[in-house]
Amino acid sequence: MKKEQEGAKMIPYDENNVFAKILRGEIPCNVIDENDEALAFADVNPQAPNHVLIIPKGAYVSFADFSERATSTEIVKLVKLIGKVARELGLQESGYRLLANHGEDAHQEVPHFHVHLCGGRPLGALLSARTP
Ligand code: AMP
Repeated sequence: MKKEQEGAKMIPYDENNVFAKILRGEIPCNVIDENDEALAFADVNPQAPNHVLIIPKGAYVSFADFSERATSTEIVKLVKLIGKVARELGLQESGYRLLANHGEDAHQEVPHFHVHLCGGRPLGALLSARTP
């Protein structure tokens, strides 16, 4: 493996990404819930009746970066908030999907780690049909 591929943080954190601006209060969002390490807010372009983004309040580019550098407290608080929001939205019985895009192949658009929480209707297959 090449040296530059070894670290999970493949691009530097961009302080001007849209979620950094949301965290600084520079642009509005529809807050669903939060704790001291994570924020949950409505996706501006929902793909399901319930589509929430859960993000760490710390500066992490993606899941690869978060899984490598985040503290145990940050990881636990993010996971706990995801579960809490799902319960609050009444999705525990009907079901929901969690999804996190990392990097180019996954079409990650916003370079601040986020987990999509989608539910409220049958969500279909995990990926669009295509030969691997
Ligand atoms: P991804 O492709 O995983 O990076 O997803 C980025 C998500 O962020 C998309 O679902 C967008 O609709 C959502 N998004 C972009 N800007 C905003 C915003 N200002 N407020 C809420 N969601 C946003």
